[in-house]
Amino acid sequence: MVFFVPVRGRQSEEYVARQRILTGMRPTGPLHLGHYVGALENWLELQHEYDCYFLIADYQALGDHLDEIERIRRSVIDVAVDWLSVGLDPERSPFVVQGYVPEHAELTLYFSMLTPKSWLDRNPTLKSEMQQLEDSHETITMGFFNYPLSQAADILLPKANLVPVGEDQLPHIELTREIARRFNRQYGEIFPEPQAKVGRVPRLLGLDGQAKMSKSLDNAIYLSDDAKTVQKKVRRMVTDITGQNPRLSPTDPGIVENNPVFLYHDVFNPDVEEVKDLKERYERGKVSDGEVKDKLVAALNAFLDPIRERRAQILERPGYAAEVLEEGSRRERVIAQETIAEVREAMRLVYT
Ligand code: ATP
Ligand code: MG
Repeated sequence: MVFFVPVRGRQSEEYVARQRILTGMRPTGPLHLGHYVGALENWLELQHEYDCYFLIADYQALGDHLDEIERIRRSVIDVAVDWLSVGLDPERSPFVVQGYVPEHAELTLYFSMLTPKSWLDRNPTLKSEMQQLEDSHETITMGFFNYPLSQAADILLPKANLVPVGEDQLPHIELTREIARRFNRQYGEIFPEPQAKVGRVPRLLGLDGQAKMSKSLDNAIYLSDDAKTVQKKVRRMVTDITGQNPRLSPTDPGIVENNPVFLYHDVFNPDVEEVKDLKERYERGKVSDGEVKDKLVAALNAFLDPIRERRAQILERPGYAAEVLEEGSRRERVIAQETIAEVREAMRLVYT
């Protein structure tokens, strides 16, 4: 569905089409730099051009954190505070709690009747996440296995056209498109086929050199970390992913390529000249790891300072984040109920 809104400053009969976005995060912990460059930075831009709905997927977190309800409860609020701190505007773009809008569960149920199990079996992101659970001897629940489907329902419920996400989510968006196609073929054109939009950094690697900075892997710098914590974490950062080329002294020629510290410099240090100089000296054995890391600490703290200031202001208003979530969910529920009514009608789940 496309909405038409007046363009300010033009003739009142001129309208532009405004498309919808739904995107979200799991309340499994506080947000980190990977979320910022992989998703939030994109959301901040897009909230001016699209009708955005930002979802906190609490149902989805239950799939692998059912025994950690307190963590989920705290994280729902933490994620909302993180979103406010980076400058997302809940007046413009409702913040929605999945569980406050049970139509998300209802659409998930219908989609699970429509979707062959093999579509989930072959999903590479799901496969690798299930492997991680298995490696740590955790049970794979049906709820976890089904989460990509619940994500498809989240996106299609408000009929989103665009989904800004990190690279790991691309198979889920493809699945969403397949489900939309199958539903529309069977029951009539109800859903759009949404496009994915990957952020500036498709996947930020972890402090430990693992492929993805992740709340679950505890290899992250959080948006809520203070300056001292950032310094401590960066000082412990690996400089070599392979572990085969340890640099023992500042006079050893170092390797810049795929060096996590330099990868972070490229993403977070706006002083391009400084980064270039550090790289040159590193390769010639003319700079210590310590100096390269200290400059990264300074860049990261400069990046995080405005976020910290906004957070301090938000935390002065206890209960504000919870209010934002209630109001945003109420707004999305109106649209969700319209879609569900259409779906039930199309599926002939109306008994007269
Ligand atoms: P969990 O480990 O609990 O799944 P997560 O860190 O993967 O947590 P999600 O809530 O699953 O976070 O993902 C939220 C969004 O942030 C997704 O669009 C995801 O692609 C993006 N994202 C998460 N981590 C990174 C990262 N390291 N680099 C880029 N994007 C990321
Ligand atoms: Mg994830």
